[in-house]
Amino acid sequence: MTRILVTGGAGFIGSHLCRRLLAQGHTVICADNFRTSAAESIAELDDDPAFSFLHHDVTQPLHVEAEQIYNLACPASPIHYQNDPVATLKTSVLGTLNVLELARATGARVLQASTSEVYGDPQIHPQHEGYWGHVNPIGPRACYDEGKRAAETLMCDYHRQHGSEIRIARIFNTYGPRMHWDDGRVVSNFIIQALHDEAITIGGDGSQSRSFCYVSDLVEGLIALMNVTGPDADRPVNLGNTHEVSIRDLALRIIALTGSASVLESIPLPTDDPRQRQPDIARAEALLGWSPRVTLEEGLKATIVDFRARKVLRDA
Ligand code: NAD
Ligand code: UDP
Repeated sequence: MTRILVTGGAGFIGSHLCRRLLAQGHTVICADNFRTSAAESIAELDDDPAFSFLHHDVTQPLHVEAEQIYNLACPASPIHYQNDPVATLKTSVLGTLNVLELARATGARVLQASTSEVYGDPQIHPQHEGYWGHVNPIGPRACYDEGKRAAETLMCDYHRQHGSEIRIARIFNTYGPRMHWDDGRVVSNFIIQALHDEAITIGGDGSQSRSFCYVSDLVEGLIALMNVTGPDADRPVNLGNTHEVSIRDLALRIIALTGSASVLESIPLPTDDPRQRQPDIARAEALLGWSPRVTLEEGLKATIVDFRARKVLRDA
């Protein structure tokens, strides 16, 4: 049994990770300031004696005894991270710095939740970990992309300078039950619009692509990466599903799976919206023996069931 700190543990991925770690018998401390989440997401864990919650902003130093730290604290949806870009950049940079200082004091191993956004609007396809990326440093996405890039730099510098034990997961678009209702991400937006028979808002002509990973697959990958050892363990690892779809095809699938009467409506493409994204997961497969298992169809069905149930509660 390991004592594990999860920053951002009340968020979408964090709440799934906390539950999985508790199910494996670990002690979990969740630190969060609820910037993009609420107490309800972890309320059912309160009765578990192996779980504790710390209301904390990671831009401030932390003092928690733990053997492992998953650093997930950071808004992930474009509308969330762009609504206070300075706070977003501070969360990635100061948050990671504070977590690394904590780890330096306690000897903990740190896993950083990095992102495919470090590749920006990529010029190679699929994206492998050796690619340095194509990021606009002054655009509206930069608070997130550059913050995550700086966080990776801090991780690697602490490793080289102080011998810190690091793991870097470059997470690609992840979806599943308990996504925030109104965070504006494409899967949640389309499902909610479809369930209300409202127009599905397609950015541009919808030919841009993403590759969507179901949250349980992602969580297994994070845990495998945290626990792997060996000479390559401290290098960045892509975690995502390789099945790439256009945004237009995603909309049509969700309409079909929900039996919706929704029609497609084009809206302006956001600034610096990446054209295409697909992970090369050869490193994760070789290092972790990991690859995603849940198909897009299965994952969307499970996510739609969750959103339907929440809609009933919200409509009541
Ligand atoms: P989320 O917004 O649901 O969760 C983030 C959590 O961090 C929230 O609970 C939020 O309140 C908390 N938080 C934000 N700022 C904080 C601060 N200063 N101090 C303490 N807590 C703070 O996002 P998510 O989808 O669960 O993403 C989790 C992590 O994974 C993020 O670091 C994100 O960048 C990364 N990631 C997610 C995706 C994805 O598709 N969901 C893709 C790539 C990377
Ligand atoms: N998108 C869309 N309609 C929406 C929300 C998003 O067409 O209502 C598009 C968005 O422009 C992008 C893709 O879906 O091309 C993924 O967007 P999301 O915000 O989910 O994630 P990210 O851009 O960070 O990959």
